[in-house]
Amino acid sequence: MKRVRVELRAVSRFADGRVLRSVVSPGGDKRVCSPFPHRLRRFRADEQLRVTVAALGVLAVLAGACVPTGPVVHAPVSDHFDGARFHNVPEVGSRGLGDVLAWQLFAKSGVPWPDWISTPPGEKPPVRVTEGVRITPIGHATILVQFAGINVMTDPIWSERASPFAGVGPPRHRDPALRLEDLPPLDAIVISHNHYDHMDLPTLRALAPPGSPTKIFVPLGNAAFLAEQGIEATDLDWATGPESCASLGGLSVCAVPAQHHATRSLTDENRSLWSGWYLQRVGSAESVYFAGDTGFGPHFYGIREQFGSPCVALLPIGAYLPRPFMRIHHMDPKEAVVAFDVLGAKHGVPMHFGTFDLSDEGVDDPTRELEASRTKGRVRDFLFPGFGHGRTFRCVD
Ligand SMILES: [Zn+2]
Repeated sequence: MKRVRVELRAVSRFADGRVLRSVVSPGGDKRVCSPFPHRLRRFRADEQLRVTVAALGVLAVLAGACVPTGPVVHAPVSDHFDGARFHNVPEVGSRGLGDVLAWQLFAKSGVPWPDWISTPPGEKPPVRVTEGVRITPIGHATILVQFAGINVMTDPIWSERASPFAGVGPPRHRDPALRLEDLPPLDAIVISHNHYDHMDLPTLRALAPPGSPTKIFVPLGNAAFLAEQGIEATDLDWATGPESCASLGGLSVCAVPAQHHATRSLTDENRSLWSGWYLQRVGSAESVYFAGDTGFGPHFYGIREQFGSPCVALLPIGAYLPRPFMRIHHMDPKEAVVAFDVLGAKHGVPMHFGTFDLSDEGVDDPTRELEASRTKGRVRDFLFPGFGHGRTFRCVD
């Protein structure tokens, strides 16, 4: 029998024992080996998602028999917290996990994605930068943001699935564009909300193990959950001014409003807050606004008013179809262009596309739509540098 030699390209081992292996055959085809390699490829992505959500629903219902109301949040009542649950401002309705479950099981269709998109790892980024802001998209909402002397990462996920389970759930369709071992030291991680594609526990344990100098910032109500998982984090409410932001080595770290929701089971809907993050190197023009996961809303006007126009805006453009179902919680590329203009951002980088198949659009639709908006002359500098490609932005003319 003819044997085919394969070359091991990367191994990422998480603290809970899960292993992500990437291998390349001499022909160049790419496979990801999981603890369940055969089961991994037996389902299409949408089938995987349906199975996961259904399983999650069953687990949540079972959990709900013991914990009927979800975790209790200790926070002052505010315009976005009623003492029990958080909500958007203004209130825009919601799509809870039950709605998502029904849609995933009965209605999801759309353009199928290729099983795998080869994405060679990008060059190892500099350990530190000395000027400007360097942005490296890694995949989905995972972005390395390097200010002079300060490294931050947004919503890191290196796991092969956005799921609580090792063997089922939405699989990634491309590798993270940087290897874990190539990352520079991280001073901070900011997380937008608790959905599985944004708050990935194995990755957090790998990047910020107990005793690590890496600080994790989360929206209000998420630190207690992470503490139960052995992960130390600081949670912040939406900032009402610089005094309600955190400070880290000359960087101001502010949670800012987003139009979204939070849930990891059927019993915890909106028991924790969601947010974007406004990062500003104190005393400089270097600022980065990370929008997180958000629909289009008036919060973009408020963020500009409160913090000023950011030098760089990181804006989501994916997971937007079908529009009637997704518009509350996810912008489409046209809305992201409007948000870019509303913010008055100097530069923009699109995110939240091309990695996990969570909606009905095709894998290339978000960037194609963004390009169409650009050719209509509505975009100044809202460009995708490419997965794994770092781009340095100057914030002073
Ligand atoms: Zn989300």
